[in-house]
Amino acid sequence: MTKMTINLTDTLYNYVLDHSLQEPPLVKQLREETAKLPMSAMQTPPEETQFLTLLIKLMNASKILEIGTFTGYSTLWFAMTIPEHGVVTACDVDEEWTTIGKRYWEKAGVSHKINLEIAPALDTMNDLLNNHKANYYDLIFIDADKENYMNYYEKALLLIRPGGVIVIDNVLWGGSVVNSLNQSRDVQAIRALNKMLINDDRVTVSLLPIGDGVTFVLPKK
Ligand code: SAH
Ligand code: CA
Repeated sequence: MTKMTINLTDTLYNYVLDHSLQEPPLVKQLREETAKLPMSAMQTPPEETQFLTLLIKLMNASKILEIGTFTGYSTLWFAMTIPEHGVVTACDVDEEWTTIGKRYWEKAGVSHKINLEIAPALDTMNDLLNNHKANYYDLIFIDADKENYMNYYEKALLLIRPGGVIVIDNVLWGGSVVNSLNQSRDVQAIRALNKMLINDDRVTVSLLPIGDGVTFVLPKK
């Protein structure tokens, strides 16, 4: 036994999935199609995505902003989770990957709940702020280019409604956050945000070692 988070072997990880994953069939199909892509590792792991859908249900969330869509895996599961009147605003710069997602969103009958914005996410966030979407979103999932994480976070603080949650993905960056030999721009940006968050009086945080590390941020507004 240990006071720390348990280390997962492959066998134990599979046990976790076998005993908790309730992935809808179309979501699973999209994961299997995504797995064939060279960049498949960018997809949010299923157990993490499922936990976020649980959070969505707990919060009764209906308005979600996703920064980084890829093949629309998390987007699909989020859209299937929110009520009929809900919306997922999905941001990405890549047409090819998101086109894969669109097929599944349509098949699942949830495409009317998804607004895909193909543009740099920072531009989309600024547009949203100019279009009366300050204090609007219940949940914001930050999962795009890491160099912009600080910018996304600051915009997210304006776009999130009081009581809403900002979720930041990949905050451990494969463990590289503690490897001083790694000074890539990505890891430096993640370290800077992590360091800033623990001292940010505007919010309450919880960093959990799920997937590649996820920080949950509850603004005090
Ligand atoms: N949430 C997705 C994974 C996102 S991967 C899932 O669950 O599968 C990160 C995505 O961020 C990529 O698709 C990439 O095209 C996108 N991205 C990179 N730079 C971006 C930018 N400046 N604005 C918006 N999206 C960007
Ligand atoms: Ca991610």
